[in-house]
Amino acid sequence: MTVLSIVVPCFNEEESVGIFLDEIQKVLAGHDFEVIYINDGSSDNTLKNIKNLADSNPNVKYISFSRNFGKEAAIYAGLSNATGDLVCLMDVDLQHPPSMLPEMLETISRGDVDVVAARRTTRKGEGRFKSWASHMFYKVFNRISDLELVEGATDYRVMKRTVVDSILQLSEYNRFSKGLFQWVGFETEWISYENVERVAGETTWSVWGLFKYSIEAIVAFTSIPLSISTLLGTVFSAVAFFYMLFIVAKYLLYSDSVQGFATIMCAILFLGGIQLLSIGILGKYLEKTYLESKHRPVFIVKESNIDEE
Ligand code: UDP
Ligand code: MG
Repeated sequence: MTVLSIVVPCFNEEESVGIFLDEIQKVLAGHDFEVIYINDGSSDNTLKNIKNLADSNPNVKYISFSRNFGKEAAIYAGLSNATGDLVCLMDVDLQHPPSMLPEMLETISRGDVDVVAARRTTRKGEGRFKSWASHMFYKVFNRISDLELVEGATDYRVMKRTVVDSILQLSEYNRFSKGLFQWVGFETEWISYENVERVAGETTWSVWGLFKYSIEAIVAFTSIPLSISTLLGTVFSAVAFFYMLFIVAKYLLYSDSVQGFATIMCAILFLGGIQLLSIGILGKYLEKTYLESKHRPVFIVKESNIDEE
């Protein structure tokens, strides 16, 4: 039986796949391991290059999706097909330094923790805005959800079989892995490292993409935004009610004719805005429930060199 399975999601990574394997073979010389590449609907030569690697290395497995399903789906597919007692999750672009792997394996083999995960301490090479936005995301998420996400936590981790099996039990369609990893619990030891630049290719994450991803994360793990819109509605209704009493009293006491169209316009626009926002939030949750209720598969495999049992 294979001791270590390394799960590697790849999306348009034709240059990186080979470099990655070389590095892994260097640091894991003498170890028993398999590498499972998940080709997440790449449009370049990623699959061809992976197949070439698989032809000359019996410990290279691959799963190729019928289209791009996203990294979360690729992680799920990889974990589902990993056979090792230990499973490692890694990016193919070498931003998750393979040189850390021996230390991670040693830490987990000591036996007191179930997961050894890597944590970025710097965001060197990343834009200021992106770092700030990411910091804000962790702050907001940790404040409003019951889960505590570790800032700088990456998907780079080695997990014991029990942990992997627990994650696989969470078969939801909307997957936010960082949250799922935290949700299943278990003892985790964090190892810090400095941010590394990509070895080749380009990141597929735009600022807009990251923003959408953080909304997904929040919707997947907390329903607080729904309560916030209820709270806002209550506060504004109360304010409006007292303002109404105030106008009536003012009219009765001083026979002031009612004035202030500007105030009314502002109030209408503001409340209209809050209402639309609340409907939007509601819609987001409804959308997730709707998608979840369809029970669609998380990914569809087009081809693979892993035999189905
Ligand atoms: N990835 C994937 N599917 C996607 C986007 C990315 O499998 O739709 C893979 C990608 O090939 C890489 C990892 O996920 O191995 C991390 O992606 P990327 O380097 O673009 O993200 P970043 O490191 O900038 O956060
Ligand atoms: Mg990367």
